Amino acid sequence: MTQPITGGCLCGACRYETAAEPLNIRVCHCRLCQKATGAAFYARVQVPIETLSIAGPVGWYPSSDAVARGFCPNCGTTLFSRRDGGGVIGLAMGSLDEADRFRPTEHIWVSSKQAWLTLADGLVQYPGNP
Ligand SMILES: [Zn+2]
Ligand SMILES: [Zn+2]
Repeated sequence: MTQPITGGCLCGACRYETAAEPLNIRVCHCRLCQKATGAAFYARVQVPIETLSIAGPVGWYPSSDAVARGFCPNCGTTLFSRRDGGGVIGLAMGSLDEADRFRPTEHIWVSSKQAWLTLADGLVQYPGNP
């Protein structure tokens, strides 16, 4: 049996855990993810939403009709991207307890990738959604 995926925010107020295996592991370069994370890209591990238990406060912001972003209201850490229509939720890779546990399988929305960033990992790249 594999160990659960666990993680949390910078201040420790919000913790999460799931026993699920990742559905996919992607790096998104879209502008919404750049804005929502304040970072050059958003790397996340996607799991079925019903498998995730969250302890602590989470603020939610709907960045589009389809996706809501979850963050710690105390320290502001980006934690989640929730897609209710698809029954899935993304866990921000930087918030995992074992940040290096997973390796992304593809890059998406590279059409809006920041120009300085060179992707040399050999992973599949999609200009938009896969
Ligand atoms: Zn926090
Ligand atoms: Zn994105």
